[in-house]
Amino acid sequence: MMSAPLLAAALALSAPTPPVAPKPPAFVVVVDPGHGGDQDGALSPGGVKEKDVVLQIARRLRPRLEQLGARVVLTRTGDIGVPLTTRAAVANGLKADLFVSIHLNSMPTAEGRRLSTGVETYFLSADASDANAAAAAARENADRLAGEPLPDPGDPVAGILQDLEQAAALAGSSRLAYALHERLVTALGSEDRGVKQAPFYVLAGARMPAVLLEVGFLSNAAESQKLLSAAHQEKVAGAIAAGIKVWREAERRR
Ligand SMILES: [Zn+2]
Repeated sequence: MMSAPLLAAALALSAPTPPVAPKPPAFVVVVDPGHGGDQDGALSPGGVKEKDVVLQIARRLRPRLEQLGARVVLTRTGDIGVPLTTRAAVANGLKADLFVSIHLNSMPTAEGRRLSTGVETYFLSADASDANAAAAAARENADRLAGEPLPDPGDPVAGILQDLEQAAALAGSSRLAYALHERLVTALGSEDRGVKQAPFYVLAGARMPAVLLEVGFLSNAAESQKLLSAAHQEKVAGAIAAGIKVWREAERRR
């Protein structure tokens, strides 16, 4: 292996043109708009579906991430169903640097719908942080197809390697979650419902920092009005991109 100075010298000898300043390495972001196809997700009081709103937000996020130099892949670009395990598998297949699943929250009771607003950010754990986190995971996991397997741990050695990989990814997921959550709460002026952990199937197979964002309550009349507006969706997209930028800079310094 030639050392960097030697390589640079060799290139300088062989190439008459001055070397171009190296571009920062491209990074790959997989953006996962929740639900799709038969799976509507949450509903607004007027009947607007979560699957449609999160796709709009993902589309607004894409160019903002591309401006940061990211290669962006959406797990769906239209109204189609994608199995939960396939979504993380897409990210693993691309060796993505991060995975962001975008969702909207909802409450089952009339009182809950009236009172609950704000942003929750999740990363994976086997146990939910609290009853609300458990309920959110249960709602989002409802898309799991009958018989859809959890990620296969494979043989014991591969299982251990995957565990180590996932432990490292989990620490990264926590840092990513806090970076995104802070930006979202500040930019949207929304209630801060906290960074939480819960057993989301969609995050379970990801081998890179992975978070699930509940960027607001579609079930709340006032908050759903905001979430349906282009201006608010742009704010959401801007906050996610800003959080990813901050996270990435911090990770590169680590
Ligand atoms: Zn959802």
